[in-house]
Amino acid sequence: MLQGTPILVLKEGTERERGKSASQNNIAAARAIADAVRTTLGPRGMDKMLVDSMGDITITNDGVTILKEVDVEHPAAKMIVEVAKTQDQQCGDGTTTAVVLAGELLKRAEYLLEQNIHPTVITRGYQIALQEGQRLLEKEIGTSVPPDDEKMLTDCASTAMGSKGVFGSRDELAKIAVTAVRKITEKRGDRTIADVDQIKIEKRHGGTIADTQLIDGILLDKERGHPRMPRQVKGAKIALVNSALEIKKTEIESKINIKSATQIQGFLDEEDKTFRRMVEQVKATGANVLISQKGIDDVVLHYLAKEGIFALKQVKESDLQKLSRATGAKIVTGLKELTSADLGRAESVEEKKVGDDDMTFVTGCQNPRSVSILIRGGTEHVTQEVERSLQDALKVVSSVIEDGVICPGGGATEIDLSVRLRKFAPSVGGREQLAVEAFAQALECVPWALAENGGYDAINTLIQLRGAHDGPLANRNVGVNLADGKAADMWKLHVVEPARVKRQALSSAVEVANMVLRIDDVIASKKTPPAPPGGGGHDH
Ligand code: ADP
Ligand code: MG
Repeated sequence: MLQGTPILVLKEGTERERGKSASQNNIAAARAIADAVRTTLGPRGMDKMLVDSMGDITITNDGVTILKEVDVEHPAAKMIVEVAKTQDQQCGDGTTTAVVLAGELLKRAEYLLEQNIHPTVITRGYQIALQEGQRLLEKEIGTSVPPDDEKMLTDCASTAMGSKGVFGSRDELAKIAVTAVRKITEKRGDRTIADVDQIKIEKRHGGTIADTQLIDGILLDKERGHPRMPRQVKGAKIALVNSALEIKKTEIESKINIKSATQIQGFLDEEDKTFRRMVEQVKATGANVLISQKGIDDVVLHYLAKEGIFALKQVKESDLQKLSRATGAKIVTGLKELTSADLGRAESVEEKKVGDDDMTFVTGCQNPRSVSILIRGGTEHVTQEVERSLQDALKVVSSVIEDGVICPGGGATEIDLSVRLRKFAPSVGGREQLAVEAFAQALECVPWALAENGGYDAINTLIQLRGAHDGPLANRNVGVNLADGKAADMWKLHVVEPARVKRQALSSAVEVANMVLRIDDVIASKKTPPAPPGGGGHDH
């Protein structure tokens, strides 16, 4: 027998918290995060103003943006933030829903824990409910739509943007999103793919949101390299290079002994010849547009201008790749390798004034699946929020095109699942049944928050919704009408969402709730103090 001497397993200074208090703490932290974003849910949700350590301000209603910006300390709270990120990556939309739902699942779990129901039972019950929920979503609630139903796609885009501060221009933006995604949609085998990363987004403040436009081609945030170059080249033959058109400064310091003026001249002549040769090489291929990822010497730009060649320097690598896909040009490393076969084609390359600056429009590209969106808006905050809304809308439209399944919004889907899962719960039996019921209750938080944020009496709304989803006259499309807080058919109000967003929100919420619930021991190492300044780090 060991006689009372404690055995030290953990390093000194390690903090440990076990059992009930550990899980209570975790749940409280996770719920605090959920509560923070809850008021932003839905079209009537409020915005948050975030100020970072540099004093920069972001005003947004976007769940994931809020959570990315706030500096969360508690590990369980961090897990909730991760859910929002996953949801954002997978669907672009539904981030607030996933977080609010996770918070609600934990709240209900806390109640079950108090009744001495083991966390394992709860997590198992949640898992069962999730599985059934997914099945119901697919078989009972989701509706198939043809991927070319433009009206339906626009409604989905519009619903996704409904909650953001772009309300006035929602319809135009929704149309832009639908047109853009349809343009980049392609068939690969028997799958339909709409990769929204192919859509190039640029933003410029000035003008109004209504000036936001779709560009049939690639838009570059660059102006031509020399004022004497043509502003526009029609019938563009485009060369893409990813090396510099400069003379390399030698790495090793070399000393050249120049003894006479003629020698200096000879040296400069040599340099000039090299530059001329570069331009000759471009010209020989027949290119009239040159786009480089790296720098171009001023002298080279001057000669290019003389030849009437339009050139851009220091273009981002990702833009070069988009240009390559759009125009069919091959990106070459050195000018020596450049041949006429490497050139891409576009009807026009033109520099135009947008706001105070110039941008380059590459339009009429060889590949019809190249499209850009130029976002305009009064201030930078506006253009940023428009970008976030558009990103949501683009992903939503692409989900509907790829999957072809949508479901009603406004809390209709959640309340329907809730009613059906309550009926399903007794078939589970045992204590898990309680967790399935808790899950069903938790789903009601979505219509609840929507009504509450709209300034309505959420209890009344909820009672109406429950009634509408049950009984012989049940209508599964009934959700919260935010114009009056009453129950209404969401299809008729055009409030529809991709089934993918709902499916992912459910599974991310359960995943994180279960993860938090399974923790019964938090072992935190002693924090190491930050390294003293001046310890050979980088200067900023
Ligand atoms: P998330 O980050 O989860 O997408 P949002 O703030 O975008 O959160 O709110 C989405 C919720 O708002 C969804 O449940 C959606 O159905 C609902 N919603 C959107 N537009 C409307 C509307 N016009 N009427 C009722 N509910 C709406
Ligand atoms: Mg949304």
